Amino acid sequence: MVLGAVLSDETTKQMRLFQQPAKEAGLSDAIRVLEQIQRLDLEIGLTEEEEKRYLRDIEGIKVELQKAQDEMEKLKPETEALNAQISLVDEKIRISVEKIARDEKRLSEIKNAKELGALNKEVSAANKSKKAGEEEKARLSGAVDEKNEIAKSRLSFVNAKNDELNRLNHELAVKKETWAIAISGILERKESFKAGLRPDIFKKYETIRAKRGGVGLARVEDETCQACYIHIPPQVYIILKRGAEELLTCPHCHRILYVDSQVQAPV
Ligand SMILES: [Zn+2]
Repeated sequence: MVLGAVLSDETTKQMRLFQQPAKEAGLSDAIRVLEQIQRLDLEIGLTEEEEKRYLRDIEGIKVELQKAQDEMEKLKPETEALNAQISLVDEKIRISVEKIARDEKRLSEIKNAKELGALNKEVSAANKSKKAGEEEKARLSGAVDEKNEIAKSRLSFVNAKNDELNRLNHELAVKKETWAIAISGILERKESFKAGLRPDIFKKYETIRAKRGGVGLARVEDETCQACYIHIPPQVYIILKRGAEELLTCPHCHRILYVDSQVQAPV
């Protein structure tokens, strides 16, 4: 969300109304000033929420990245072990091939059927051993290909997540600059509103706001606090509508209560 958009026309209009509030403003005026202050505080709250969302997203990506990198690290020795096995099998195949070649040379020196039978047996055993080696090599190579595929997909995942991480970090840095400017403007306006408030009222609002999730002021509608949605005593509602002489707080959520000026009876 762009902060500029949060500052509605209504806010700026209201701000002008309260730019130079009377020092001796009555309680209902104080409530109206508090409303403006709360609006500004909520705007700051929105940026803080957005920043928290960014930080949460960034943290989430870092966790995913770490997991993928750990998986890749684990793949390396597994692939190395498979390749070592392939080297051993290659050696076995080489020995079988040499044996077959030697046996074939010996064919010319064969003197009788008995020798031929023995040689054929040896050739057949060497061929069997060679075939077994080749099958084993094919199986191991398949396993290596599988590991390489996984490594490839992990790598492209890591690259994509790194891109996303860079994008979010950059976006956050740009937003932080914008927020800092906007927030300093908001705080300046808050100060000017504060100047028109009784210090004890401002202090009370700030104390409640700090304890109550950033909301110190609660509108009452139909005898219900609009911050905690619990009914307030009817007498409190009547006093609020008539215009209270002191600040009234919600018996449940302890926020400062007020009614809309339209609801408030003329004094
Ligand atoms: Zn309440």
